[in-house]
Amino acid sequence: MKETNVTRMAVCPRCGRPYCERPALSRLDNETLICPDCGTREALESIGVSVEEQDSIIETIHRTMHNPR
Ligand SMILES: [Zn+2]
Repeated sequence: MKETNVTRMAVCPRCGRPYCERPALSRLDNETLICPDCGTREALESIGVSVEEQDSIIETIHRTMHNPR
């Protein structure tokens, strides 16, 4: 049997953390691939959400992903 779920590790240039999820495209230059968290941050930032608020939203996303329901 072949291993099909190959996970490629990448390092996010924005926060410097390694990640293996599907990358997000940076809104700043439309070509840099960043981690999903930073993608969320940039999206929130663009609608004027504060850093504290971004943190709590990302924390909520993680919590939901790790234990659905
Ligand atoms: Zn990042």
